[in-house]
Amino acid sequence: MFSGKTNTITSPAMFETNAYAASSASSPLESTSIPRRDPTDRDVQVEILFCGICHSDLHQVRNEWADAMPTVYPIVPGHEIVGRVTKVGSAVTRHQLGDLVAVGCLVDSDRTCPQCKSDLENLCPNLTMTFNSPDAHETAPITYGGYSGSIVVDEHFVLPVPGNLDPAGAAPLLCAGITTYSPMRRFGVTEGKKVGVVGLGGLGHMGVKFAHAFGAHTVVFTTSPSKTEDALRLGADEVVLSRDTGEMDKHAGSFDFILDTVVAEHDVNAYLNLLAHDGTLTLVGAPDKPIPISAFALLMGRRKLAGSLIGGIAETQEMLGFCSEHDITADVEVIPIQKVNEAYERMLKSDVKYRFCIDMASLGAD
Ligand code: NAP
Ligand code: ZN
Repeated sequence: MFSGKTNTITSPAMFETNAYAASSASSPLESTSIPRRDPTDRDVQVEILFCGICHSDLHQVRNEWADAMPTVYPIVPGHEIVGRVTKVGSAVTRHQLGDLVAVGCLVDSDRTCPQCKSDLENLCPNLTMTFNSPDAHETAPITYGGYSGSIVVDEHFVLPVPGNLDPAGAAPLLCAGITTYSPMRRFGVTEGKKVGVVGLGGLGHMGVKFAHAFGAHTVVFTTSPSKTEDALRLGADEVVLSRDTGEMDKHAGSFDFILDTVVAEHDVNAYLNLLAHDGTLTLVGAPDKPIPISAFALLMGRRKLAGSLIGGIAETQEMLGFCSEHDITADVEVIPIQKVNEAYERMLKSDVKYRFCIDMASLGAD
């Protein structure tokens, strides 16, 4: 855009906000400041109160998805955001100053493709993710996420948070919640079904809460014997130590649905063999390396292997409503942002009970 007679290029109107960013795949996250655009007509400005820490943040900070989604540095991660509306554009109709709202993994999409028209913005080919996507507003080369003081987002991608949900516990619903809720709804997890959840981390513990709330017989598969009691408290009917083949064999051919949330390489065929005929194993975990699949594990019993990616905006709002009705939030360990690098190391050791959530008030302490 050219301004007046001087022919200088004007940047969009912006302001600065505090944030934590990594400058390379081997750098820690450190205090910095980033630009945000001034809200346009349809934008909402949100002061961030809490932001959950998802394993996808760590994958991308360390460029572990270099083949599928290379990281552009500096990166400001964070896509489990809850905050208060501090400014609204003139055309905003859905939100008002002071509202408690949430922003998840998406901040824009093309709104014209068949997926967007079917409320599946998460599958839009021109999707803008909350961080590490090209920034169409040109505020910065890429979008910056929720490890920051505020964020400016088109109102369509800002969700009201039901008042009875604890804001810190609600933040992880925006990724861990919808990512587990959506495939369970799609594949008919209901009363009378036998459902497995593999890996008891951020996603896994939400999966257990939802499967239990949907009335399914819920079985947790874990590599961590110390999590058995917690799994039962969270709603599991049974817990299987996945490294014990004898325990695994007892469940052969019996599951209607299994949700696999594991972050690293592991034997997916061992879980396919636990499916009943026509059962479905859905991968939501995103290991960086390809996973070998046995054709026979699929052929025998006409089993299905599926994937799932977060959820659309309408379904995310539906999930928040379900959580409000059933009093479901994530079990969070709230930390100041200065502990974020330590939290990443603990996440790598599966030492999370069961989601870290950053209290963004701590940003001011740097
Ligand atoms: P997380 O909190 O670190 O939990 C992952 C769990 O996987 C761990 O707690 C552990 O559970 C298990 N695990 C870890 N290493 C393992 C290994 N080597 N073998 C077997 N099990 C292992 O991670 P998260 O935030 O839940 O994310 C999980 C995955 O989902 C990540 O890859 C993330 O990027 C991906 N993700 C995908 C979507 C999507 O839309 N599809 C959305 C968000 C996240 P136990 O201790 O119980 O064994
Ligand atoms: Zn996530």
